[in-house]
Amino acid sequence: MSLTFKTIKEAKEGLQNKEFTVKELVQEHIDRIEAHRQLNAYVTDTFEQALTQAEQAQQRYNTGEARGLEGIPLGIKDLYCTKGVKTTACSKILHNFVPPYESTVTQNLFDAGAIMLGKLNMDEFAMGSANLYSHFGAAKSPWKNGEKHLVPGGSSGGSAGAVAGYLAMGATGSDTGGSIRQPAAFCGIVGIKPTYGRCSRYGMMAFASSLDQAGPITRSVYDAALLLEHMASFDAKDATSKNVKVPSYAANINKDIKGLKVGIPKEYNMSGMDPEIGKAWEEAQQWLKAQGAELVEVSLPNTQYALPAYYIIAPAEASSNLARYDGVRYGHRAESFENLNDMYCSTRGEGFGAEVKKRLIIGTYVLSAGHYDAYYLKAKKVQQLIRNDFKNAFKDVDVMLTPTTPTPAFTEGEEPKDPVTMYLNDVLTVSANIAGIPGMSVPTHLTQAGLPIGMQLLGPHFREDTLFNVGAALEEVAQFPMFPKQ
Ligand code: GLN
Repeated sequence: MSLTFKTIKEAKEGLQNKEFTVKELVQEHIDRIEAHRQLNAYVTDTFEQALTQAEQAQQRYNTGEARGLEGIPLGIKDLYCTKGVKTTACSKILHNFVPPYESTVTQNLFDAGAIMLGKLNMDEFAMGSANLYSHFGAAKSPWKNGEKHLVPGGSSGGSAGAVAGYLAMGATGSDTGGSIRQPAAFCGIVGIKPTYGRCSRYGMMAFASSLDQAGPITRSVYDAALLLEHMASFDAKDATSKNVKVPSYAANINKDIKGLKVGIPKEYNMSGMDPEIGKAWEEAQQWLKAQGAELVEVSLPNTQYALPAYYIIAPAEASSNLARYDGVRYGHRAESFENLNDMYCSTRGEGFGAEVKKRLIIGTYVLSAGHYDAYYLKAKKVQQLIRNDFKNAFKDVDVMLTPTTPTPAFTEGEEPKDPVTMYLNDVLTVSANIAGIPGMSVPTHLTQAGLPIGMQLLGPHFREDTLFNVGAALEEVAQFPMFPKQ
C-alpha cells in the first residue's frame, strides 16, 4: 500500500520505527502528485527542496532528534509567503512575486520538521467557494458524481483536494468566512479554523484582516490537532495575535464526552438546506447523545444577519488590503500606459480577476463617504450582536453542533451561476469568523449519490480542545469512508 495513504500519526510511527525513510515518504508523494495533475492542486512544486529537507529530517530520526512533525510532507496554500518560493494568492497581479520572508505559520511548521511539497491552488485572494476563481484554473476534488468531478470548495480548494486525494498528508488553509471548513466538508476531510488570534497572520496575504485565520486541513481529527499545535504561536509581528499558551492538543484528545452540553442552534435549521444534510445532522446529534452528551436547544437570534454583514465587512477590508497591489514595487505591472494614473488602472484592471474586482467595488462603495455609516458601521454593529449571541449561548453549552454547509459539493460545470446562491453556501460558517470563535468540520456521512457531508462544531474562544474531543468522538462513530485508496 502506498505510503501516501497513511495519516500523519501513522507516518510518524512508521518513521520512528524505521519501517520506511523520509525520502521514500516524500518521493511517493511526489510521484502521486505527478500522476494526478488533473486535480490541479499544486500551482508551484518545491520537490527539490522537499528532497533536501527529507535528508535532514532523516538525520534527525537517525540521531533520535526528531521534532513534532519531522519529515511530514505538507502542501501550503499559496497565500502564505514562503521565502524564495513564488507566492501568488493565485492572482495574475502576483504571478511573479517571490517573497523575501517567511510567514510565521510556515516557519513554525518548518521549525517542527515539516516538509513543503509545494504551493496549493486557491480562489484568487481567498475569495470564493468553489475554487473556480484561480488565475491558474479550477482545482478539482478527487470525488466524483458519476463521471464528473465535484468542486473541492473554496477558497482552500487546492488544500482540500490535495489532502483528500493523498497528494499531501496535511495542508494549511485560511478561513475568512468558511474557507477551511467548507472545502473540508466538500472533500470528506477535517478542517479547523481556530480562534481569531490563535495563529499569527504575519506573512499571510490579507483578505479581511479582522476575520482571517490560519488553520489545518487533514484526514483525521488527531492530525488536525497535531498540525494546529505546531502552527499556532504568539507573534509580536501580528498585533492581533493573542498571548495564550498553545496546549498539546493532540496528546490530550479525550473522546469521553459524557455530560458535555451540546447546543443545537435552532436558527441553523434553515430553509434551503438539503434534506439529506438535515437528516445527517439529526443522526449526528443522536450519536453524541448515545455517548452521554446532553443536547440543548440554543438560540442565536441574529444568525440571519451574519451573511449580509460578512459580505459588507469582508469586501470593505479587502478593498483596503488589496490597495497595495498597484504594480509599483512588486507584482504585475501593465506594459503600456500613458501616465501614472493609467498605470494603476491598467495594472489593476489586468491583474485582478472578475470576482476580486466585484468585491473591491463593493468594498470601496460601502466605505465611501455617505455610505460608511449605512453599511460598514451598521455591519460592525451587527458583528457585535452576533458575538453577544454566542457569548450568551455558551453560558449554557460547551459546544455547538451544526452542519458545515447547506448543500453537498457542486458537480463541476453545475455550480450556481448567480453570486448570491454561491454566497449562500457560507451561511453556516461565516458566524464563527464574525464572532472570532473556533469552528471545525468533521466528515460524517455520504449522500445517497455518494457525496461527502461534514458536520461543524463551534466552541467558545480558545476552546479548540473541546472541538477536538467532540470531533474525535464523532469521527469514531461516523467511520466516514475516506476517498478510496487507489
Ligand atoms: N466563500 C467565502 C468568500 O468567498 C469565504 C472565503 C474565505 O473564507 N476566505 O468570501
